Amino acid sequence: MIVPDAVLGVLGGGQLGRMFTIAARSMGYRVWVLDPDPHSPAGAMADRHLQAGYRDQAALSEMGTACAAVTTEFENVPAETLEFLEARLPVRPGSAAVATARDRIREKTFIREQGLATAPFVPIRRPEELEPACAQLDMPALLKTAQLGYDGKGQVPVTDLAEAQQGFTQLQEAPCVLEQRVELALELSVILARSANGETALFPVSENVHAGGILDTTYVPARVPAAVAEQANDMARALADAMDYCGVLAVEFFLTGDGQLLINEMAPRPHNSGHYTVDACLTSQFEQQVRTLCGLPPGATTLLSPVVMVNILGDLWEPGTPPWQQLLSHPQAKLHLYGKRHARPGRKMGHYNCLAKDLDTAIAIAEQIRGALHRQV
Ligand code: AMP
Repeated sequence: MIVPDAVLGVLGGGQLGRMFTIAARSMGYRVWVLDPDPHSPAGAMADRHLQAGYRDQAALSEMGTACAAVTTEFENVPAETLEFLEARLPVRPGSAAVATARDRIREKTFIREQGLATAPFVPIRRPEELEPACAQLDMPALLKTAQLGYDGKGQVPVTDLAEAQQGFTQLQEAPCVLEQRVELALELSVILARSANGETALFPVSENVHAGGILDTTYVPARVPAAVAEQANDMARALADAMDYCGVLAVEFFLTGDGQLLINEMAPRPHNSGHYTVDACLTSQFEQQVRTLCGLPPGATTLLSPVVMVNILGDLWEPGTPPWQQLLSHPQAKLHLYGKRHARPGRKMGHYNCLAKDLDTAIAIAEQIRGALHRQV
């Protein structure tokens, strides 16, 4: 067990690293953040902010010497960085799991190899692979880059071969998956924490609504039959077991119109759809990240209250500082801002959680606040 006040390292200093840092420091650990951004949201909360690139040998050596263990807030950390650190100290999740989650072709192939369902897809590495892929899949489809896609970026909707060819050119012929568009009834996610010896704790399933490819709202408990929630939990657990995963893992699902549960993707870290846990669960997803990193058993994931989480994007700053009064005045609303200096449309700036005795009341509070925030001042 790694105990306070050991130093924990985190690669990446955005909002996920920031909330990890807050959780770790409140438990008495010290935290070093590696992020080149001088205004890193996590760096501002850390004991030490190493302002350097993710391949900077001097910074990595320093981290490897000072830290007792290292985690990551994003899957696009260079593989060599994780491997360099892994040779020196515990890195959780490990480089193999991060590599699987980083690349859609590897990820979806791995999921399918475990006998778990995904939307039908075909890997595309060369232009000539598009024609047989289009023949194999029903249209419409989505062409998604294998790497560096997030929040719907790096995706092109296609309805025939010609559009698929155009899309592939538009995506600079980077490796992609061509994925059949499925009819979505709902989107769900399961976040779990798994310790090095396989002890696993699952958070309640969340129901997610996206807008423009970006998560907008999370509802917990998800409004699905218990059997669906149980199946999602079983699938997420199977995936974590298959990777012998250690850390926090988020698994995103599509529930189709005909009741099929498909895995969309996974993230080897805490997830936006798990931000509700900070106010509504006995243990937050960030505390779980600390716990699994330090060799402690996962904490209890008991839901203390129905909850709605709403993301706050940079668009809200367009007319100036958002009108926070109603949000800040509401006794059951919890504001979390990430301390980002510049608001841009689509940029995640913060979120708020609304807690109430039942989900309908939490929804009513969340929507009332949403209305107040969007009112021009
Ligand atoms: P992704 O970046 O793959 O998570 O996609 C972002 C969002 O696009 C998802 O949360 C869905 O709302 C939508 N989406 C992605 N893939 C599909 C699909 N195969 N069928 C229907 N909707 C999809």
